[in-house]
Amino acid sequence: MNQIRSHSVQLNDGHSIPILGIGTSTPNQVPKSKVEKAIELAIDVGYRHIDSAYLYLNEEEIGRAIQKKINSGTVMRDDIFYTSKLWSTFLRPELVQTALEMSLKKLQLSYVDLYIIHFPTAFKPGEDLYPKDKQGKIISDTVDLCTTWEALEKCKDAGLTKSIGVSNFNHKQLEKILNKPGLKYKPVCNQVECHPYLNQSKMLEFCKSKDIVLVAYAALGSDPGKDWINKNNPALLEDPVLKAIAEKHGRTPAQVALRYQLQRGVVVLAKSFNEKRIKENFQVFDFQLTLEDMETLDGLNRNMRYFEAHEFSHHPNYPFLDGY
Ligand code: NDP
Repeated sequence: MNQIRSHSVQLNDGHSIPILGIGTSTPNQVPKSKVEKAIELAIDVGYRHIDSAYLYLNEEEIGRAIQKKINSGTVMRDDIFYTSKLWSTFLRPELVQTALEMSLKKLQLSYVDLYIIHFPTAFKPGEDLYPKDKQGKIISDTVDLCTTWEALEKCKDAGLTKSIGVSNFNHKQLEKILNKPGLKYKPVCNQVECHPYLNQSKMLEFCKSKDIVLVAYAALGSDPGKDWINKNNPALLEDPVLKAIAEKHGRTPAQVALRYQLQRGVVVLAKSFNEKRIKENFQVFDFQLTLEDMETLDGLNRNMRYFEAHEFSHHPNYPFLDGY
């Protein structure tokens, strides 16, 4: 509970991460100008943790929004926790620093707070973020993730990022990094899909045992407008059990879904570009779910992914085949 009160969680490298962050990935049809306005508003509302990625093609807009809020005196650079992600076409160790520098240039920042490997699957390097063969199949690359990790460690040493971590890794892939001979820095986090329909209880237990923070994405059930989303899955926020708990507390299903993660010690991301919902999602520090509510929400788990990433499933490092 203390972590929630301070609104931040200690990372294993001594830095800390705000426990609630604003997500920024959007369907292609959403104009990029929307993200800039949303981030400005989010900073005004009190968000200090912003999650993005090279892949989202919005780092210029986010950088402008941050700069504007620094220039107006609303925040200082140190107040903001910004996460970027190393995309799969840059996993060869010699490409890692260049990729981070490309993000920094777009952001007009001299460092990010957290740089994470976006997905454990390496793709053929090049301009095309989804390189495909004539059959439309993504072209894999063979990279030892331990060498990618060593390149991330160098970026931290060079001051280009404060902390380093991973995303979408299964526990075996995490263990491979943790057991790497000569490991200099442990990953501070694993950012994975996590919500009541996929509560990641085993991954959470594993991460806690290794002092790694679990960061939840798609905590609200994501956005069916996205190309990657499995649209046949039921909408989380329409779940009757979630709705009943929300009604009991005089809250919205989204607020309960976010509060659920906070009370489990999970750092949670919520994407919204809508003023009302940006504000709503931040009002999660002034109520508490009971133990019974928490158990009821745990009971909704059905190991159901909105992000299955089928397009990568032929890749030898496809992470979602193992139990967790
Ligand atoms: P979320 O679960 O955060 O859901 C976002 C959707 O919910 C949007 O359609 C949003 O619409 C809507 N929404 C937001 N707040 C509310 C509310 N209070 N009530 C009702 N609907 C609401 O999905 P994301 O997939 O965006 O995940 C969050 C973030 O995690 C991403 O933006 C990204 O930063 C990160 N991520 C990381 C991945 C990875 O591989 N590491 C993969 C996927 C996401 P509106 O904007 O109109 O409010």
